[in-house]
Amino acid sequence: MSDVLNYQSDCLFCKIIKGEIPSAKVYEDDFCYAFKDIDPQAPVHFLVIPKTHIASCGAVTKHNSALVGHIFEVISKVTGEMGITDFRVVSNCGPQAGQSVLHLHFHVLAGRDMTWPPG
Ligand code: 5GP
Ligand code: ZN
Repeated sequence: MSDVLNYQSDCLFCKIIKGEIPSAKVYEDDFCYAFKDIDPQAPVHFLVIPKTHIASCGAVTKHNSALVGHIFEVISKVTGEMGITDFRVVSNCGPQAGQSVLHLHFHVLAGRDMTWPPG
């Protein structure tokens, strides 16, 4: 359970960070939280989210972009520790791109062949 900067009471992922909704933790530090996706699309599928409510990639600015760099460091560290070398990182931005939760998140998918282009 952690505090969320700019907590939004109607945001599912803010609630997950706070521990108000249970989740399967993969990694956590002061700035981000990683947990298994409830509806996995690959044998490995977890989400990494900042502990600051940022709506999407479209709301990344010079004031919060360091968090995104940090998240990518975490993705590299966590996949490395899992022994995963081949993986995909996805962030859907906006409903047309498939974003269903309006709190910035990066999907990390691995463990099967991936196709391109994505649907
Ligand atoms: P999006 O569709 O916004 O790119 O990704 C949102 C992701 O959150 C989806 O892959 C969905 O399965 C996942 N998700 C939605 N609700 C929950 C939940 O309550 N717990 C967990 N662990 N994942 C969730
Ligand atoms: Zn949020």
